[in-house]
Amino acid sequence: MADATVDRDPNCLFCKIVAGEIPSDLVREDELVVVFRDINPRAPTHVLAVPRQHIPSAYELTDADGPLLAALFASMRAVVDEAGLGRAYRIVTNVGAAAGQSVDHLHFHLLGGRQMSWPPG
Ligand code: AMP
Repeated sequence: MADATVDRDPNCLFCKIVAGEIPSDLVREDELVVVFRDINPRAPTHVLAVPRQHIPSAYELTDADGPLLAALFASMRAVVDEAGLGRAYRIVTNVGAAAGQSVDHLHFHLLGGRQMSWPPG
């Protein structure tokens, strides 16, 4: 799947947000990761953590993406701490339309601040 991962897809919404071409409610960013608030929040805290690099989904991740994954989870933990979520939150990534993926750029939903039920719909 090496050809599925490129630095940027010109048609990708989240690539445009990463580039600042479409506005977002930015929460934090570093050299690898951008975190912004979901436009349709499903919980009091609902942010999306995305890599700057265009990776279509978790399915395309490889061993080489270990440092990127560490950076994504570190950024989410920072949001958890800043929002005071403690140890009560959920991290979700959908893969494929049938599983609910609507933007084909890897993103982790971080949700917290309310009671969570299981299983998700
Ligand atoms: P998914 O359905 O798992 O692919 O998640 C995509 C998420 O992106 C949804 O929760 C949308 O609400 C969110 N979203 C779509 N457009 C924007 C946008 N312009 N800014 C922030 N979040 C967005």
